[in-house]
Amino acid sequence: MKQVVLDTAKEMYRKGLVEGTSGNVSARMPDGNVCVTPSSVPYETMVLDDLVVVDLDANVLDGHRMPTSEKDLHLACYRAFDEVGGVIHSHPVHGSMFACARQPIPAAIEEFVVFVGGDVPVCDYTLTGTADLGKEAVRNLEQSSAALLASHGMITIGPTPTEALHVALVVERTAQIVHGARLLGGEHPLPEKTNKNFRGVYEYLRKNPMS
Ligand SMILES: [Zn+2]
Repeated sequence: MKQVVLDTAKEMYRKGLVEGTSGNVSARMPDGNVCVTPSSVPYETMVLDDLVVVDLDANVLDGHRMPTSEKDLHLACYRAFDEVGGVIHSHPVHGSMFACARQPIPAAIEEFVVFVGGDVPVCDYTLTGTADLGKEAVRNLEQSSAALLASHGMITIGPTPTEALHVALVVERTAQIVHGARLLGGEHPLPEKTNKNFRGVYEYLRKNPMS
């Protein structure tokens, strides 16, 4: 599981979802503890030994680095949702544009709802690194696998970090498309029935992950 965290963190960086050492990745391990990326280590040079294992109360169990300062955001998701095995916090450009404007990203693309659950909601503004941000994220992730952190960035969840990264990429791409569509006069909503059917698939997959 540590290798998946490392690979996903490097992929998140390669895909341009974060800049510098910002953003963070975590996974729930088979024993229930959580492997998180460290604070202030560049992704290019990050190795397995840099990762930190914490319990659900943020006590460090293994590792010589400091866990990410945004660990509470991750741990709140694991405490709240048994089905979640991977959490990613990123700062993608287009998603963060919506986060700054404090506007939800609409589920305007076919199959978006299958992966994300619906429109991507915006959390009320709370300061980064605080327990309140974790609580606010959990409130918004009950019905969705992605949420925008007001004036900050994005959080995505999945059964594994790989799937949480996929959700982040789908949301970021859709944010870019919706922004462009608005320059062309605005996106058309999908038929209600279409998104309702996709929502059924989402709910099934969230409770019965395939991986
Ligand atoms: Zn952040």
